[in-house]
Amino acid sequence: MSEEMGIFSEGALDAFRKKNPAGVRKKPTREVCACGHSMNFHKPLGEKVYCSPGRGGCLCEEPSPVLEAESTRVFMYVTTGFGSEHALAKGILASIDKGFGFKWIDGDAPKCAKCAGDAVNPYPVAARVVEDPSGSARLVPTAAPGVYNKILCASCFSQI
Ligand SMILES: [Zn+2]
Ligand SMILES: [Zn+2]
Ligand SMILES: [Zn+2]
Repeated sequence: MSEEMGIFSEGALDAFRKKNPAGVRKKPTREVCACGHSMNFHKPLGEKVYCSPGRGGCLCEEPSPVLEAESTRVFMYVTTGFGSEHALAKGILASIDKGFGFKWIDGDAPKCAKCAGDAVNPYPVAARVVEDPSGSARLVPTAAPGVYNKILCASCFSQI
């Protein structure tokens, strides 16, 4: 896999940027965002959204609920890599470890952000925006907290 390879098309990137962050909920919810933190931690500030899970460490600007958790308090991790090193995966594993249930909002499995198929073995991936010398911006996967967080299926993950 290459750090320089974008995982989302340029069209998708434009759509992300134009998206209005009005999706932030006012009421407490048990939904967990793809970044791995409770939707309740996402607060609008000006035109942007900030996710502040306690000690910080999240750059999520695109809240997107992916699962409902019996306890969102275990979803407090920092992303340090891909797949199992992502904050979402760490929260899920901690939930299972502590006996808390959760369910995917998409059904039996989350939808892959790239091929839209069922991500039966989901790989959460953080991405950041990189502008190349020609001025065009792309999303590239990052092994650290990212502005965008997506779930990929095993097959799409193996191609990044
Ligand atoms: Zn988030
Ligand atoms: Zn977050
Ligand atoms: Zn896929």
